[in-house]
Amino acid sequence: MTAHESGTDEGQETQRAISAEALKAEVETWANRIRVQPTSVQVRRMTRKWASCSSKGRLTFSEDLLAEAVAVRAEVIVHELLHLKVPNHAKLFHSLLRGYLDAHSPGPIDLPPPF
Ligand SMILES: [Zn+2]
Repeated sequence: MTAHESGTDEGQETQRAISAEALKAEVETWANRIRVQPTSVQVRRMTRKWASCSSKGRLTFSEDLLAEAVAVRAEVIVHELLHLKVPNHAKLFHSLLRGYLDAHSPGPIDLPPPF
């Protein structure tokens, strides 16, 4: 058996996670679809929720999202971006959320913790 693999082994820990830049790119893609413009997008450690949205349109996403499935990231990203349009969780908010996700994602998912 000869070791003949490509030399770019990044290690196992981060193998399945995306980078913060990739997450921001996903946020931008969704922002274009939803037609909103966040003031800023940050990825940082958050202990109690997946993301937050300030009243000035600054979005912060938990770096834990980097290791989550694309559908989980979509749910969180669209949720926060939609708050730039709808500042509450009323019926309209949820129907828009489902509408965007159903249009671009394969199906419903379960989010681990509430947010
Ligand atoms: Zn919310």
